Amino acid sequence: MIIQLSQHSDANQISNIKSFFEKKGIEFFFQDFNNQFIVPAFNDEGALKQFNIIKSIIEINTPFQLSSKNYKTKTSFSVNEVEIGGTDLNLIAGPCSVESDEQIFSVAEFLNSQGIKFIRGGAFKPRTSPYSFRGLGNKGLKLIRNAADKYDLRVVTELMDLSNLDKVYNNADIIQIGARNMSNFSLLAELGKTNKPIMLKRGMSAKATEWLLAADYLLCGGNENVILCERGIRSFDMQSRNVFDLGVIPLMQSLSHLPVFADPSHGVGKAAYVNKMGLAAIAAGADGLMIEVHPNPKKALSDGEQALTFSEFSDFIIASKPLLAAINKGADFINNNKTLKLESF
Ligand code: PEP
Ligand code: MN
Repeated sequence: MIIQLSQHSDANQISNIKSFFEKKGIEFFFQDFNNQFIVPAFNDEGALKQFNIIKSIIEINTPFQLSSKNYKTKTSFSVNEVEIGGTDLNLIAGPCSVESDEQIFSVAEFLNSQGIKFIRGGAFKPRTSPYSFRGLGNKGLKLIRNAADKYDLRVVTELMDLSNLDKVYNNADIIQIGARNMSNFSLLAELGKTNKPIMLKRGMSAKATEWLLAADYLLCGGNENVILCERGIRSFDMQSRNVFDLGVIPLMQSLSHLPVFADPSHGVGKAAYVNKMGLAAIAAGADGLMIEVHPNPKKALSDGEQALTFSEFSDFIIASKPLLAAINKGADFINNNKTLKLESF
């Protein structure tokens, strides 16, 4: 449960509540900036009647609390004037890794020509093998920032560890926490103290509850700008890179108020299936998509097999429009954010 205190509660009254829980051996988390207690393992409302500084109590019967839909109906926020989690679909695109000046500037120019508002690209890459390309590091961060600034794009890039927090923070508009770091709780706790939007990808074997508890690590520190991103989970079939879990999109939207994005590129791992599954994710109700695009996928230094060419990505944009019209949804890449009419297709 979440126990919200009145504005006028003083330190003494707050410590009385703390002692109440301490005596009972019940874990609690006090958010001083929000003037509220988060007490997941407690549901005896009656026992709290003695504390007259309590303004309201929100019952939440799940381990995750602040990400729960019982706490809040919907989260939306703006990233340099583009709303995330609003009525429009957001589309993030770009290469897996920032590789060179020419590569990232040509992607940025292309994305801008398509009306896209967000560019992705990793400068610090979590690679399974230490012998694979691990990103350009700081140089890559600067390149993607400059390319984004030139072409009026917002940067989504991954932070792998706290040693690079300042640099990534200063160059990103949204910080991506990758699947491999979804359970890096000290990293999440630190990011929770910032107000930078975070895109939290689902761990490869994370259950819905584990994913939302990871989101709670960000939220309980005070960062309310969190996006969830489904990117496929591990299963037994070696034919596909991952199993793209479309069902988790409406599930997360029913459990949580956070925007739910989907990444069909990592979800399926093969360029030929990305467009279909991207459309499927829109149909499943995703608030946004992230798609890997490369000027020359065959030469990509990471994830070339799943990267779309410019023309395949344009095909996706074209195919998405009648679908968006059919479900009466706008998109941030459609000028003026006007919802399209199905009759025009
Ligand atoms: C990526 O987005 O390039 C990436 C490494 O993603 P994930 O963490 O989902 O594997
Ligand atoms: Mn990738």
